[in-house]
Amino acid sequence: MRRYSVFAIAREALRHHQGWGRAWRAPEPKSRYDVIIVGAGGHGLATAYYLGKNHGIRNVAILEKGWLGGGNTGRNTTIIRSNYLQDPSAALYEKARSLYESLSQELNYNIMFSPRGVMMLAQTEHEVRGYRRTARANALQGVETEFIGPQRVKELCPIMNVSGPRYPVLGALWQPRGGTARHDAVAWGYARACSDMGMDIVQKCEVTGIRTERGRVAGVETTQGAIDCDKLAIAVAGHSGRLADMAGFRLPIESVALQALVSEPIKPCMDVVVMANTVHGYMSQSDKGEMVIGGGTDGFNNYTQRGSFHHIEETVRALIETFPMISRLRMLRQWGGIVDVTGDRSPIITTTPVQNLFMNAGWGTGGFKAIPGSGWAMAELMAKGEPGPLAAAFGLDRFAEGRFIDESVAAGVAH
Ligand SMILES: Cc1cc2nc3c(=O)[nH]c(=O)nc-3n(C[C@H](O)[C@H](O)[C@H](O)COP(=O)(O)OP(=O)(O)OC[C@H]3O[C@@H](n4cnc5c(N)ncnc54)[C@H](O)[C@@H]3O)c2cc1C
Repeated sequence: MRRYSVFAIAREALRHHQGWGRAWRAPEPKSRYDVIIVGAGGHGLATAYYLGKNHGIRNVAILEKGWLGGGNTGRNTTIIRSNYLQDPSAALYEKARSLYESLSQELNYNIMFSPRGVMMLAQTEHEVRGYRRTARANALQGVETEFIGPQRVKELCPIMNVSGPRYPVLGALWQPRGGTARHDAVAWGYARACSDMGMDIVQKCEVTGIRTERGRVAGVETTQGAIDCDKLAIAVAGHSGRLADMAGFRLPIESVALQALVSEPIKPCMDVVVMANTVHGYMSQSDKGEMVIGGGTDGFNNYTQRGSFHHIEETVRALIETFPMISRLRMLRQWGGIVDVTGDRSPIITTTPVQNLFMNAGWGTGGFKAIPGSGWAMAELMAKGEPGPLAAAFGLDRFAEGRFIDESVAAGVAH
């Protein structure tokens, strides 16, 4: 793989950019691999990358039914934070956040990590109590956050109306090293590094069946033929239930559409990420100047990967009280992704009833921020056959045993 550098750019500028190679190969699938990963989103690709990097397992294929990064990884609003309440969540998301800090250098690919700070607004007394509690929990967990008052909120985000008539801003949970990254660059960076390690990323290759022999995984049926494997990982977000069904077990997951929209680009006016969970909207400004706006999930299960008018209306109506200036903006685009939501709003990184079949799912509305940590933990689980400290609490058995990692009450939303 040719390294990207300032010298490479200068050299290619002189050659009219004719010398750049493909960032990743486009191979035909082989008949057998040590490991197959279904889903070339961030979680599947990061799992493959850390399997190769941390455990030396490189005979790996990542099978993708569409194009890599074309699922939720390329559809999210890119918020990265680790200010979760429960210890296992804070450990996993903080691992991911800290890996994001140097991921561009590690992958030699600019993922545009921007630790501009994330604030979660407290607009009810209940939220004030909740976020003060989270700030204290984070202090014990080694996650840098603080509870700030409305005046500091206004200083950090001058376009905000902190004294709205219905939902005045009473404070915020502030994580100064939270922020954003360019979502598809995260997928592309991992893909390039995986391809460089000799792994095969096979696009337009849908997995249509899972073969097992005596309770152990044997391979997959795909639209490009049957492929054998020793170990299989499923990382398909909103389609997790369908893949588990192919392997003969059920997951405690609901699939619903989550939507987002962007405005026309405007001059820089907001250099932090703001989440307003009571009114249910969140917003940041992209480097192009668009206001990136996210809302809630549909109230019913579905696989409809597209936007709807009532969500624009609800989300924008909710945000206008806090950000009156957006009432004058035109909206450019809107889209949806199918997210996989668990009852406790925490992910699943687990072995399954089928031997050597592993599952990475349940990231719901907030898995972009977790990609590096999730890949790290999933690779460890697959290489050793049992979870390491990061994944230990996130097994499927927690639903049978009632050991929930309850982030739903703490967060309200989980982006
Ligand atoms: C609108 C929206 C906003 C969001 N905002 C945020 C945010 O701000 N911060 C945050 O942290 N998270 C956010 N998320 C959540 C985040 O995007 C997801 O949790 C994360 O991207 C999931 O990554 P993944 O790799 O598991 O799934 P995906 O990126 O969806 O990848 C799964 C891949 O599997 C493929 N696949 C499915 N079935 C098959 C099959 N049978 N065979 C082969 N391939 C298959 C799909 O085509 C897809 O490419 C948001 C999500 C949405 C939809």
